[in-house]
Amino acid sequence: MNCRLCKNTEATKIFSATNMHGRHLWDASQHFDVTRCLSCGAVYIDNLSIDDDYYRKYYPACYYDEGKISGFLGFVLGALTHISLKSKERTILRYLNDRPGKSFKILDIGCGQGDFLESLNKNKFEKFGIEINKKAYQECLKKKLHVYDQDLKKADFKDDFFDVITLWHVVEHLMDPVETLIAAKRILKKDGILVIATPNTDSLGFKLGKKLWFHLDAPRHLTLFGRQSIKFLANAAGLKVAGSGATFYDYPLDLFWSLRESACKIPAYILYPFFKMLSQETMMLIFRKL
Ligand SMILES: [Zn+2]
Repeated sequence: MNCRLCKNTEATKIFSATNMHGRHLWDASQHFDVTRCLSCGAVYIDNLSIDDDYYRKYYPACYYDEGKISGFLGFVLGALTHISLKSKERTILRYLNDRPGKSFKILDIGCGQGDFLESLNKNKFEKFGIEINKKAYQECLKKKLHVYDQDLKKADFKDDFFDVITLWHVVEHLMDPVETLIAAKRILKKDGILVIATPNTDSLGFKLGKKLWFHLDAPRHLTLFGRQSIKFLANAAGLKVAGSGATFYDYPLDLFWSLRESACKIPAYILYPFFKMLSQETMMLIFRKL
């Protein structure tokens, strides 16, 4: 098949993956070819037809519930999530050149259960979200968030409407990421920012963990990006990279789980925070219109 990003056909299979979600094995009998495009460097799942059956089969109702940890570790992870959300808000306000009295319209595409939108200062942000997962959408409504349960193109926002559009771990799920970013760019103000967080295939977890990489999530992550391919995506959509944000507190245990069968796991576990910072398992990038 053609690369989902640059449409080139020259690619090489790098390994075979099973149906895993984070650290959880969902179905060992299913196998997927993880392939790297020789032109743009994007990593994608080859030979997969994306139809209604695909969504029914690979996105079960428990999709947003899996992986919750309780007890003291759950409390610590919850605190780190809070730090991560507040750090994202500060980064966004910095790139928007925030001043006292200013407020901003934000759209969170693929907002899940609305945790990010809910965490934002309501005096600073007029909040909108899009979420097509029915269960997650209902959770957003319970939180009284202004969320649409339809595709971005059908939501029909006006041109140049938002100061900031965020896609937290969304682009890797899309059938055509360039098309979605072009649609997002239309509704973004001229001096607005588009923020993307996505797994990073330049990371240690991907290189050493391979099919056990925490962020592989085959076959739900259709396209995975490194620095080269994320720049290709931005360019193709008429955007430029304006900067990056910190992701150290996102998914604190991702590298731990990715390396569990790797020969390097002992030094990586002993010096975990150092390896985690060095590795950048995920990346957060800020884009502006070209
Ligand atoms: Zn490509």
